[in-house]
Amino acid sequence: MEFFEYISSVFADFSNPKKRIFFGYLILTILIALIWLVTVRRSPVKRAFQQVFDRKILFSPSAKADYKIFVVNRVFTLFISPLLVSQLAIATALYYALHDIPYLQRGVFSDVSTGVIVALFTATIFLVDDFTKYLVHRWMHRWPMLWAIHKTHHSAETMTPITVYRTHPLEGVLYGLRGAVAQGTTMAVFLFFFGNAVDLYTVLGVNALSFVFHVTGSNLRHSHISIRYWRWLEHILISPAQHQVHHSIARKHHDKNFGVAFAVWDWLFGSLHLSEPDADLKFGLQPSEAHPSRLLDIYLRPFRDIARILRRRMSKLKDTIEKRPTAGRSVRDP
Ligand SMILES: [Zn+2]
Ligand SMILES: [Zn+2]
Repeated sequence: MEFFEYISSVFADFSNPKKRIFFGYLILTILIALIWLVTVRRSPVKRAFQQVFDRKILFSPSAKADYKIFVVNRVFTLFISPLLVSQLAIATALYYALHDIPYLQRGVFSDVSTGVIVALFTATIFLVDDFTKYLVHRWMHRWPMLWAIHKTHHSAETMTPITVYRTHPLEGVLYGLRGAVAQGTTMAVFLFFFGNAVDLYTVLGVNALSFVFHVTGSNLRHSHISIRYWRWLEHILISPAQHQVHHSIARKHHDKNFGVAFAVWDWLFGSLHLSEPDADLKFGLQPSEAHPSRLLDIYLRPFRDIARILRRRMSKLKDTIEKRPTAGRSVRDP
């Protein structure tokens, strides 16, 4: 790949409406933040601009690390993506597998009007995607080996929209597989039961609901602008302030608000935490888990942590075999 081609592929997400950092969404994010600061927080306009473009946040060591990780991760994505199993492969395999189940009737709902089928598919794929993201995110916090990987994201001490890319490439692989399984399965089931009318309502080529999620400020989740929703709405949709709670270092905020768009999953499974007025949140990891700031360490640390967990598991197993008691540990207290 030529150098120029590589550079343009690194920044392709800024011109791709399927990505959260599409420049159109970023402009809207800035507008929403300014309007909120001026109308709700009663900030003078000049002060609101200073708050949105706070140099101490945009150029903090943590933010600079985010920018570097963003560029480096693009290289990994270019190499890893072609190796991942595609949603189309899963959809095709499952679609034909459904034919072999005798009591399932293909095309049983094909008489339903096209508009209803498309609306149903658009909503279902968005919901399934959001729920599986919730599940995987929850597992990332519960299982020590996955937490070793996800810690990279939580090591951010300041947040900008680019922080969403502050993830270890292994997390990218896991989420890529999740997306393929979730979307491939939904596609296969819909095509089997509803027939060829299955399609998506899209805006700029993006699922209409994802588009709504992004134009209403999804980028503010990773920012210092803590927009809160009404209490009732924070039970349904995750507000930017609620995701900031998820990043808070405070122990009472640990393992809360795993949701992406919908808060209902957190509400249903007991991990919901509503935002608090004037909360002065500190982001990052516990001092005991302090993450290295050198780029190479950021990438290597999860492998070292996983090796340490495996060694600990082995010695625990040895202890069990030798009938020696061992103490249990929490994921966030290694
Ligand atoms: Zn998390
Ligand atoms: Zn986050």
